[in-house]
Amino acid sequence: MSDTKIIFLGAANDLLRRAMQADNLSGDPVQMIEDAVDRARIMAIQGKHAIAKVMAADDLTMRVRRWNALNAKAFRIYFGLDDNEERHINRVEGRLAKTLERLDKVIKVRVRPQFGPHSGHCKPGRSAYQASGSLGARRINLCTKWFTIEDPDARAAIINHELLHAMGWKGYTQDKKDASGNKVYGSVAARLLAVEDPQKANKNAENYEQFYRYLMHRVSTLGRPGWKGIKSDMDAAIALPDNTMHFFHHGRYTVYRGGLGVIGSGAIGDGHWKNLRGPFDAALVHPHNGRAYFFRGDTYHRYNLSANTLEKTDTIGRVGWHGVPRDLDAALIHPKNKKAYFFKGIHYYRYDFSQEKVDKTDVIGNSGWKKLHGYFDAALVHPGNHKGYFFVGRRYYRYDFDKRAVDNLN
Ligand SMILES: [Zn+2]
Repeated sequence: MSDTKIIFLGAANDLLRRAMQADNLSGDPVQMIEDAVDRARIMAIQGKHAIAKVMAADDLTMRVRRWNALNAKAFRIYFGLDDNEERHINRVEGRLAKTLERLDKVIKVRVRPQFGPHSGHCKPGRSAYQASGSLGARRINLCTKWFTIEDPDARAAIINHELLHAMGWKGYTQDKKDASGNKVYGSVAARLLAVEDPQKANKNAENYEQFYRYLMHRVSTLGRPGWKGIKSDMDAAIALPDNTMHFFHHGRYTVYRGGLGVIGSGAIGDGHWKNLRGPFDAALVHPHNGRAYFFRGDTYHRYNLSANTLEKTDTIGRVGWHGVPRDLDAALIHPKNKKAYFFKGIHYYRYDFSQEKVDKTDVIGNSGWKKLHGYFDAALVHPGNHKGYFFVGRRYYRYDFDKRAVDNLN
């Protein structure tokens, strides 16, 4: 039994069975729906906890800081931030609260086949929809496609998406369209909407669906397992040719070695990184000249590792690094194509060393970097296993370049 009371509409079990048969599906549909609604409720509780931590801050400045940083930056990523910060945060809080309230009440579910006279609006490609009109509130139509979705979090988050449509403020939670008139579905489109029109993202059911999924990511965290002794919210990270990895937190560095863990730490300039001053935004080692490059704002520093000296400081893009944006989040060298990848917000910039310019830019996860969401604190390629590590808050995502996939996300 589910915590939420679910009423199955329209000769419930018979319709369910027929709908499943029509599309050749097996499994216990009632159980699947009950499990998904329970999971949707857990998501809603997590969402409420997350926003409560933001709201608990003493003043708006601190609240905005938490909004941008907490929960692996889930709020920042999926809702952006409007100029009216207070109103923006309050509205998300209100909608997250309402989602949980809905799940504490009765919800009505109707299952429909994808084809035939009972299909309703379950046109091909659609997995669920919210009926409009006076009977629409809290009534969810699940199409048989929904039962084919493998990820239980994805099935559950769709329930919350549909509940968002039933918030009752007319027009507010209808699916939003992007600049080219396409409905915003999926993580890439939702994250883009949060950048381009945070107010729309705030009202868009899909952004809540994707927010809940991201919040629930079961991914490794610093120290569990690996990276023991590395503090969260780092500024930058770099893997050096001597197989050590350096993590930077404001004016300090921590040296980490695979198999050994933390083997040293200190103030930048003291022992390591003479004449450099943090904080840095991003860092990498140039694959051709072997120099370390540190990026900060619109500036870069070139550092000679064998001579242990700062060689050069210049503006990004003036001489070299053409097309690389300022205020980066993270950078690394791709071990396969040997190009540099710069990450900023939800975007990546691929830098080609032979052309000496950025030759591709896209949203992270759209063409490449699947299952990564951006807003990283730091990134590097581990010199031992040659996998990419992307750090965001306490989380880290491990990226397998052979499989072209995140491999520590269950
Ligand atoms: Zn929708």
